[in-house]
Amino acid sequence: MRRASLVVVLLVVVAAYFLAPIVVDGRMNTVSATPLPTVSPEAMALHKSLFVADLHADQLLWGRDPLVHANRGHVDIPRLQAGNVALQVFSVVTKTPRGMNYDHNTGETDNILLLALLQRWPIATWRNLRARAVYQAQQLYDAAARSNGSLTVITTQKQFADFVARRATTPSLVGGVLAIEGLHALDGKLESVDTLFAAGFRMLGLTHFFDNEVAASAHGVTHAGITPFGRAVLQRMNALGMIADLAHASPQTVDEALALFPGPIVVSHTGVVGTCPGPRNLTDVQLQKIAAHGGVIGIGYWDAATCTIGVDAVIRAIMYAVKIVGADHVALGSDFDGGTHEPFDTSHLDVITDGLLKAGMSADDVRKIMGGNVGAFLAASLPHGGT
Ligand SMILES: [Zn+2]
Repeated sequence: MRRASLVVVLLVVVAAYFLAPIVVDGRMNTVSATPLPTVSPEAMALHKSLFVADLHADQLLWGRDPLVHANRGHVDIPRLQAGNVALQVFSVVTKTPRGMNYDHNTGETDNILLLALLQRWPIATWRNLRARAVYQAQQLYDAAARSNGSLTVITTQKQFADFVARRATTPSLVGGVLAIEGLHALDGKLESVDTLFAAGFRMLGLTHFFDNEVAASAHGVTHAGITPFGRAVLQRMNALGMIADLAHASPQTVDEALALFPGPIVVSHTGVVGTCPGPRNLTDVQLQKIAAHGGVIGIGYWDAATCTIGVDAVIRAIMYAVKIVGADHVALGSDFDGGTHEPFDTSHLDVITDGLLKAGMSADDVRKIMGGNVGAFLAASLPHGGT
């Protein structure tokens, strides 16, 4: 009897261990139950003709196979195909603080360690943030290798051009670009920039939720800017041809990066203060400075980016950004699977095309916002390369 009880307890513990990451994922990455607007036939036809691109999703964090249509979260290849998404930036998260908030965090605690243990990541990832980044990047390459050509990881201008040409005749193809949230993942070592480049990363977010060795976060404690080490990191990134992402950066970090970094800059996922005030969102002046640098700004759909959840709020934010900087610098930056509550998953992006048309945007500008701008930006910004 005693032994039977012990077995039951053990089975419960083992089941809980395997189910915990699924439960956490399902609770943290949710979709609003509010019904979506009906998409007009005109919008549907336009959407099918678009090169759709999204600058930011954290799909790789949750242990879901990118190739399998999941019943939770927001992004996987089948749902990208359903949404006619050509290009998804897959960002990796390597450390977030306990009690994560938008105002004030330090980097002493580590939520991702628990996730790594629950998902049985390699031992090397338990204490090494760079190893966590490389491990998640490998998951995308592994999925691409198993995808029969459906998914391609893109790291060079040549690969991007080849992908665009192939996709013109096979619209089910999805391209992935690897990005990172926060350069604490360098573990304080300059040579880690090269390690990340070799692992396929092309877009580096300087900060995430806390100040790190490179720069200050919008959600940290110092509200300072870029450190001397950070300047060396930016130099190395520029030499390698990497893109800097200023999402989550403190205002001073944004200003200093724009002044210091001659290479390509994005803000991959953000809201705009003009429709939703908050420490996470960009002011009109910031929008203008980023556009003047040639940058692209990805507008998000989650509650803290738009203040309310719904297609209308997303459209308002996009239209506002376009009013401030014009249609050439605005893009989609969903933050899907970023521990976010979203109005739809990626299979329903046609509601944005529909909403923009209904708001009076021209089909040409819709084409730019939905992915044309990101396509042109990557075509010019990715490193040259023969493969
Ligand atoms: Zn983020």
